[in-house]
Amino acid sequence: MYIPYGRQAIDEKDIQAVVDVLRSDYLTTGPKVMEFEKRVAEYVGAKYAVAVNSGTSALHIACLAAGIKKGDEVITSPITFAASSNCVLYCGGTPVFADIDEHTYNILPTEIEKAVTEHTKAIIPVHYAGQPCDMDAIMDIAKKYNLLVIEDGAHALGASYKGHKIGSIADMTCFSFHPVKPITTGEGGMVVTNSEELYKRLVLFRSHGITRDEAMMTEQQGDWYYQQLELGYNYRITDISCALGLSQMDKLDKFVERRRRIARRYNEAFQDIDEIKIPTQLSNCESGWHLYMIQVRSDCRKKIFDRLRKNGVGVNVHYIPVYMHPYYQKNGYDGVCCENAEVFYNRAISLPIFPLLTDEQQEYVIGQVIEAVRGT
Ligand SMILES: *Cc1c(COP(=O)(O)O)cnc(C)c1O
Repeated sequence: MYIPYGRQAIDEKDIQAVVDVLRSDYLTTGPKVMEFEKRVAEYVGAKYAVAVNSGTSALHIACLAAGIKKGDEVITSPITFAASSNCVLYCGGTPVFADIDEHTYNILPTEIEKAVTEHTKAIIPVHYAGQPCDMDAIMDIAKKYNLLVIEDGAHALGASYKGHKIGSIADMTCFSFHPVKPITTGEGGMVVTNSEELYKRLVLFRSHGITRDEAMMTEQQGDWYYQQLELGYNYRITDISCALGLSQMDKLDKFVERRRRIARRYNEAFQDIDEIKIPTQLSNCESGWHLYMIQVRSDCRKKIFDRLRKNGVGVNVHYIPVYMHPYYQKNGYDGVCCENAEVFYNRAISLPIFPLLTDEQQEYVIGQVIEAVRGT
């Protein structure tokens, strides 16, 4: 038996939805793309949505739409997947890492404010594990210094902050539909926004920077005519993927509810175990529980991790602080140190959490974790 830390939940309806598209007229950029965009936008409470072929592409076009360019600084968290800051580098900008809160593992507003300079253009808060960042404080800082806020909501579709779904708060929010994420399209992503202007730019950057919209073109030569206005990409998503995404949206609330139940059971099982620190849950937020991570003593972490893996528990570590990767180290980040992030990294272990994890599997994981922390 090997229990992964995360995996997709695909049922017969998902399969049928994909098969139906394969028999239809459109394989890519057909009716399913717009239906899926509308569905997610309505769910999160945003006006516009642009679906793309990955969460990374979503972050990239969000940075492009925000106008990030050489010389611009963008503040983000070190405890995230590298894509949250790579998207800034793709645009020629400079990611700046602000340390995390030691309890929620999310970026600290006070650290964001300390990192603001005259070159700062945007903030990319990451809702780590699905728990929303302190968005009121982050939006206040953005307003004070005239910055755009691009939420990395890759973990947080279905999560909410003070009663507002993630996706309705900042200038833009990016989601990922990779198989381990809250819903999946295989590969896929989306940017949601309430700004018509940003929406139009996102659409341009998704497809080569090309438009057929007369209102945006400098002239009109005929029905064949289109213009390339920006240097965009081919980040389009297929109708096949979006049909799967639509079918997955039918189950999102059930998925999140199951994740919450699993998290509650872990909390209950570990709360009295001295060797384990369980994640803090804020009272004004509802986490999507993309990840469930515990902290153990840093000097036993590797032993505990190896023992769990050996016994079929697919533990993981989320994340290596981004600036510690060799690419960042050799490109000017060798002097960076976010202390809370490094302490957390040395203690963290992510446990299996996904909708199809059975009660029986979870009890096995719990037993193995308790044995491992006590036995090492
Ligand atoms: C998964 C993930 C991404 C990237 O999404 P892809 O769809 O894999 O490109 C970005 N940020 C975070 C925090 C993620 O977990």
